[in-house]
Amino acid sequence: MAASGFRKKSRANTRSRRAQWKAPMPRLGRCSNPACGELKPQHAACPSCGHYKGRQALRPSKP
Ligand SMILES: [Zn+2]
Repeated sequence: MAASGFRKKSRANTRSRRAQWKAPMPRLGRCSNPACGELKPQHAACPSCGHYKGRQALRPSKP
């Protein structure tokens, strides 16, 4: 059980705080595969060649 707050936050306060919350930008980087070099989200396998951290992590979608 988490401790419950002493004062209840107003709905307006909660909503204005959440209005500032944004999804983080996806970090894009070059594929580690020198033969590919595609722009891909970091910490994810390359969608075009399937490489991740210098190895084949996924089956390439396109041969
Ligand atoms: Zn790639």
